[in-house]
Amino acid sequence: MIPFNRPYMTGRELWLIAQAHAKGHLSGDGDFTRRCHHWLQKQTGAARALLTHSCTAALEMSALLLDLRDGDEVIMPSYTFVSTANAFALRGAVPVFVDVREDTLNIDENLIEAAITPRTRAICVVHYAGVACEMDTILQIASRHGLAVIEDAAQGIMSHYKNRPLGTIGDLGSLSFHETKNIISGEGGALLCRDASFTERSEIIREKGTNRSKFFRGQVDKYTWVDIGSSFLPGEITAAFLSAQMDAAEDITARRIAIWNRYHSWAKRHESEERIRRPTVPDDCGHNAHMYYMLLPSLEARTRFIDGLRQRGVQAVFHYIPLHTAPAGLRHGRGNGTLSVTDSISERLVRMPLWIGLEDNLDEVMEKADEALMAALA
Ligand SMILES: *Cc1c(COP(=O)(O)O)cnc(C)c1O
Repeated sequence: MIPFNRPYMTGRELWLIAQAHAKGHLSGDGDFTRRCHHWLQKQTGAARALLTHSCTAALEMSALLLDLRDGDEVIMPSYTFVSTANAFALRGAVPVFVDVREDTLNIDENLIEAAITPRTRAICVVHYAGVACEMDTILQIASRHGLAVIEDAAQGIMSHYKNRPLGTIGDLGSLSFHETKNIISGEGGALLCRDASFTERSEIIREKGTNRSKFFRGQVDKYTWVDIGSSFLPGEITAAFLSAQMDAAEDITARRIAIWNRYHSWAKRHESEERIRRPTVPDDCGHNAHMYYMLLPSLEARTRFIDGLRQRGVQAVFHYIPLHTAPAGLRHGRGNGTLSVTDSISERLVRMPLWIGLEDNLDEVMEKADEALMAALA
């Protein structure tokens, strides 16, 4: 069976973990964590980058940093992973779901203003498949209404919008290093602060609400409890693994893009013969080949296609039960407008295998996909 995902390892991960082991500093914020922070700040231009256990943790930190409370509202797409909404629901805030665009499957910027109420505090965008949302328009709306902008850039490392790295365009950004993403550490993530306004408090929130980071830098002579917070920092073993991945980030991205481009050329004929729709990447977006997805004409066709691929030894998957229809989404959030694009694409989207090492089997995958597609649509 050709799997949907296979975590890529550069070969240097264990060597760097051995160095962390030899140093004997295994808790967080040692040399490897500092290396990762430095890499992220250099790569993205963020004023501050902080490693976390996950993108979910970074989103939870964002909700804390914005002091969100009961009844505050956060506008976001419904077509996303649960953490986008859950991080805010944990603070008692209400996720307000709006529909996505037909082309990029990102939040439809033209629907945001209609969802704003006196309780709206923030817009949380999701850069689906590592392709940016229409950020200039979204930033304009946010500034007109005094709202914060949070980027769920879980899928967006090494991607750009008008040459700006994703995760540093809004006030706060979050990245994921989960093993299904491009750059990985098993579980892992990072919070990005675009400018200095959130940096001091983000360090405190991440260190159990203490000023321990300042203490380690010698800026205060004892550390103490100064705010609410939690333990959001990973240990050095995780950071050592991640360091190896970051060093290879350019190579990883280039190799994924090569696979993505081969899929995209292959799928062109199926698109022109109206069997599928291919992903759209707007001109001002540089993407990271996080995902190759296709849209089939119907739920039935998608089910037949995925089954047909499985019978032929290829694992493809679909995702996102729209959050506005999920049990917790109904309880904690609300939809604004019809969300008909979300309902439709969530039934028709399929994700093809995409991982480094798949190159050798890619022709076979495409051959099987030709067969499975013809059979699914016969
Ligand atoms: C993967 C993902 C997350 C969660 O990331 P974790 O690191 O697993 O917490 C959140 N949002 C989106 C859009 C994702 O793709």
